[in-house]
Amino acid sequence: MAKLAVIDLAESSYSNQNKDLLEASRYCGCFRVINHSVPGSLQSEMKAAVKDLFDLPDDVKRRNADVIHGSGYMAPSPKNPLYEAFGLYDAASLSDVDAFCSLLDAPSHVRETIKTYAESLHKVIVDVATKLAESMGLKDQNFSEWPCQFRINKYNFMQDSVGSDGVQIHTDSGFLTLLQEDECVGGLEILDPGSGSYVEVDPVPGTLLVNLGDVAKAWSNGALHNVKHRVQCKAATPRFSIALFLLAPKDDKVEAPAAFIDSDHPRLYHSFKYEDYRKLYQSTGLQAGEALSQLLI
Ligand code: MG
Repeated sequence: MAKLAVIDLAESSYSNQNKDLLEASRYCGCFRVINHSVPGSLQSEMKAAVKDLFDLPDDVKRRNADVIHGSGYMAPSPKNPLYEAFGLYDAASLSDVDAFCSLLDAPSHVRETIKTYAESLHKVIVDVATKLAESMGLKDQNFSEWPCQFRINKYNFMQDSVGSDGVQIHTDSGFLTLLQEDECVGGLEILDPGSGSYVEVDPVPGTLLVNLGDVAKAWSNGALHNVKHRVQCKAATPRFSIALFLLAPKDDKVEAPAAFIDSDHPRLYHSFKYEDYRKLYQSTGLQAGEALSQLLI
């Protein structure tokens, strides 16, 4: 089982926390956050709301169309037959969250839960990104305008799927991912840099998991680690998880700040627009960090 760093977001003195945050982000690309200000009751209500959405008829689910490439509903496919997901872009915009709920004819209590949850998770992911930038010596980064996407996942695990892939090996394409895991059904595995093998990440109810993606690696000029991960089917039980992705700067290119570049650390990546990168990542199937390698200088 993976031993992950645990970052206390309510800690008043950040010197040690920032050191741990940076070390985990550089080495493993994955850590847990506690005292994150999202009530356990809201996490439970969101999970119930998500289950209601997956019970909708197929034609209603498909109204959740792409806003940017691959941001909408994903039905089970030959590549991932056990996996189904809703997508919500831009989850940082309450009017977009409202529009998502309207498309799916969400009842008012589900709509209120999703809106409150989106607002709460957005605050946490901006807080984590800000602390990460501070730990790297950048005090003036504003992540609150960066577009976000929700991906609401259901894994239709059945008896004959135990031992198979729920989602194949990949890195996330954006900057940070904040994940509410299924509190009962595990299956997430990350590549452990020490052993070079995949290790299980068991759920810890009430905490949130953070992953770093390809944009974090490019933005940090290679200093931060985009963690490879996958989901394995461990039990014949449906599994639900909710991921919020902080993607990349709005209307701006992904580029390492000048503070990260010097003669010992020359610029590693060409600058790029996130939406172009996302198309490359999704259309080529190069989803385990290889697409990013194509942007090396
Ligand atoms: Mg992922």
